[in-house]
Amino acid sequence: MDCIFCAIRDGEIPSPKLVENEFCYVIRDINPQAAVHLLVIAKPHVANIAEAVDECPELVSGMLKTAVECARQEGLEEGGYRLVTNLGENGCQSVKHLHIHVLGGEKLTENIGK
Ligand code: 5GP
Ligand code: ZN
Repeated sequence: MDCIFCAIRDGEIPSPKLVENEFCYVIRDINPQAAVHLLVIAKPHVANIAEAVDECPELVSGMLKTAVECARQEGLEEGGYRLVTNLGENGCQSVKHLHIHVLGGEKLTENIGK
């Protein structure tokens, strides 16, 4: 299986990890959509949030906790921020390995749909 987030997890593709724990690791998005754009990436290869909720719900809570802690660490809490996870084609998920986007550091668009 060719998966970029598994390769980064395993150090095959170098990418500085801001945080790493039993559930996930955190990197900066290569193509940031906001002043701060982090990716909280599941440690195991799980395709998306729906699969994780069914098969390993503790992973979901661990990732959400990590996302909130990273946002706090980045100083995003006071101004606010957005957590996003895309699923499938309509959700425009480009990497089929569960990850949560943390977006903030500036005012985001009100429209989060199309
Ligand atoms: P998705 O579209 O699947 O929700 O989000 C995938 C995200 O991964 C995109 O925002 C994209 O910029 C980011 N991304 C893809 N490849 C890499 C990479 O090699 N390094 C980093 N840091 N981000 C990546
Ligand atoms: Zn993977």
